[in-house]
Amino acid sequence: MTSTITLNNGVVMPALGFGVFQTPPDATAEAVETALRVGYRHIDTAAAYLNERGVGDGIRRSGLDRSDIFIETKVWISDYGYDKTLHAFEKSVRKLGVDTLDLLILHQALPGAFDKTIAAYRALETLLADGRVRAIGVSNFMPAHLDELLAATDVVPAVNQVEVHPYFSQPDVQRADVAHGIVTQAWSPIGGITSYRGDSSKTTFTDPVIVGLADGHGKTAAQVMLRWHLQEGRQAIPKSVRPERIAENFDVFDFELAADELASIDALDTGIRGGPEPEMITLESFGREIPEA
Ligand code: NDP
Repeated sequence: MTSTITLNNGVVMPALGFGVFQTPPDATAEAVETALRVGYRHIDTAAAYLNERGVGDGIRRSGLDRSDIFIETKVWISDYGYDKTLHAFEKSVRKLGVDTLDLLILHQALPGAFDKTIAAYRALETLLADGRVRAIGVSNFMPAHLDELLAATDVVPAVNQVEVHPYFSQPDVQRADVAHGIVTQAWSPIGGITSYRGDSSKTTFTDPVIVGLADGHGKTAAQVMLRWHLQEGRQAIPKSVRPERIAENFDVFDFELAADELASIDALDTGIRGGPEPEMITLESFGREIPEA
């Protein structure tokens, strides 16, 4: 059995999706097709991943109806601004080969140029009103960014996609999301960033607490982490290019963690961020041109 999450505008999304950050463009179609065959029905990509075409190819190769798949992508900061963001939507749907998106989110706040962030979000509101996207949201927004956005715009974001794994769970951001009726979407949900960007001798995959829980349930560390997200009400989007792991990460609907087991994972939070500090995102340091379709 899979499960779903209902967003604040009534749109239903799968509780477990499939991520493609760092999936090479020429390997993306195959990974997406494999994921859809295994049972995933939500794909999370981004204009900045430069693999939206591969996502579209994988979806078409699957033979599934467009309406059975929940497609999410992100607008990169270099395309912020009302007209530029409307155009960014066109670039993304053309690369994906679809007419509408299920969820379109701003990839980052631009804290030093928040007017641009607001103008970009205003474009998302227009796309929502015009029926081009079914839901809109944000990513990497800290509580103060949410407050500033909510004060200046009309539609409460449906999701806030942020780094959440056992070593960095951002309880303050999760509380702010809940208070506003925003679903927290966990990126790096199994702590991939602790292995591909951190000290590879200390990763979530080999954590003794997580491995202990996995052994007790006859599951893997990744499966325990994904179960932790689902039971705590977060949406999660694990990434893999390996068929056996794509299947493993979806095989999480046949066991349950007890309350004390969830709490033991909560207690692993180190407060150390793996990704870039959201307050430090600027066009000067992170800007990159997103090619035309
Ligand atoms: P994940 O937590 O999903 O981990 C992925 C990494 O772990 C990869 O290196 C993968 O390697 C490996 N892996 C996958 N499954 C397993 C497994 N079962 N056992 C052991 N290792 C495994 O990290 P990501 O950072 O990729 O995050 C997931 C998604 O979140 C992204 O793909 C993207 O969609 C989104 N994201 C969003 C960000 C944002 O700023 N909004 C930032 C980062 C990610 P391999 O592929 O070789 O299996």
